[in-house]
Amino acid sequence: MTRQNITVLGSTGSIGVSTLDIIRRHPERYRAYALCAHSQVDKLFAQCQEFQPVFAVVRDAQLAGDLAGRCRAAGLATEVRFGLDALIELSADPEVDAVMAAIVGAAGLEPTLAAARAGKKVMLANKEVLVMAGELFMHAVRENGAALLPVDSEHNAIFQSLPADFARGLTACGVRKILLTASGGPFRNTALADLHSVTPEQACAHPNWVMGRKISVDSATMMNKGLEVIEARWIFDAAPDLIQVVVHPQSVMHSAVQYADGSVLAQLGNPDMRTPIAYAMAWPERIDAGVEPLDIFAVGRLDFQQPDLERFRCLQLAYDVLHEGGTAPAILNAANEVAVAAFLDCQLPFLGIARLNEAVLDALPAGSEGSLADVLAADAEARSCAAQMIRERRFA
Ligand code: NAD
Ligand code: MG
Repeated sequence: MTRQNITVLGSTGSIGVSTLDIIRRHPERYRAYALCAHSQVDKLFAQCQEFQPVFAVVRDAQLAGDLAGRCRAAGLATEVRFGLDALIELSADPEVDAVMAAIVGAAGLEPTLAAARAGKKVMLANKEVLVMAGELFMHAVRENGAALLPVDSEHNAIFQSLPADFARGLTACGVRKILLTASGGPFRNTALADLHSVTPEQACAHPNWVMGRKISVDSATMMNKGLEVIEARWIFDAAPDLIQVVVHPQSVMHSAVQYADGSVLAQLGNPDMRTPIAYAMAWPERIDAGVEPLDIFAVGRLDFQQPDLERFRCLQLAYDVLHEGGTAPAILNAANEVAVAAFLDCQLPFLGIARLNEAVLDALPAGSEGSLADVLAADAEARSCAAQMIRERRFA
């Protein structure tokens, strides 16, 4: 078996660390070729010592100098690079077989797109890429013979529950509905009046999953599920009304597909991201992921509820921008990134996130999602609009 060279975008994050755990368990299959992080140099240096990648990438020249010095002193041959250009090059590098796209937010768009354009196997956790530029990205995947393997647990479950040739069309495959499950986050049962005073720590305390802070807040507002509806629309070429969000508090059924003959196929498992990561990495094979087997007796029961679109306004906004099309999803994504950062920085109350997102969408008309430049321009405009509204303390 030839070893696959992997570039990990976001190696120091929650998904990145789980990806490295799969590489650690299967050194005969995978080699960490490039490890890319932002500013956590200590953590990246420890990863370099263990995995001895050919390249490591950090945010800027100063951090690169720091890391390079440490690597040299430790006798490592790892070459340290920095910045967006390095991320793009190492995603498209001819030596690379597969790219784990696990940067959080819009920052991952260009490197992930570069991987698709270079025809790589793209393992996609960074859902914001598809939200911002779904049409462009899917076009790049198809035109360049890239393989897109969803890592987001729901999309991975849907992928596993669809026939291998689903690209010929969901309706032709007899699909009636995609059942996209959602835990409902930490505030599923919190009274609306109490949501005003929620703190970042409370919002980040997800009942079932341990994740980065941005996606944790997105789960609490259910913006995450909204982003996932858009993600599913693109990965599976699914009409929006085919995608039904289902609140399932146990997070054991990771999503399902309902067929014309009455069958429902689902994927179940413990909430551990190493399952979808290992599936994406080894596809079409299956390998040990270090995940505890699901104890179905301990789970006991599975509950399902309709989502509350009034309480979770962000989920409704996602359906709205999907309907509007063009750059509207990119505008929502950018506003939300600014809103979540402001909330984590105690500059915006929890309920201000949805209000800010809606206000930015109202303020900015969507254009067509023509080129990458159009998407990046819409992203930049929405960020500055959102930042200004925060400075004016409109939703304080
Ligand atoms: P995280 O915050 O734990 O990690 C983010 C990673 O991105 C870090 O390695 C960080 O260094 C890097 N990064 C951040 N900004 C960067 C920039 N400007 N340039 C380069 N690198 C940058 O996030 P996470 O929870 O691992 O999530 C990563 C992505 O995966 C997100 O898009 C998230 O929605 C998605 N996802 C995560 C989970 C999960 O369980 N954590 C599940 C499904 C999908
Ligand atoms: Mg998910």
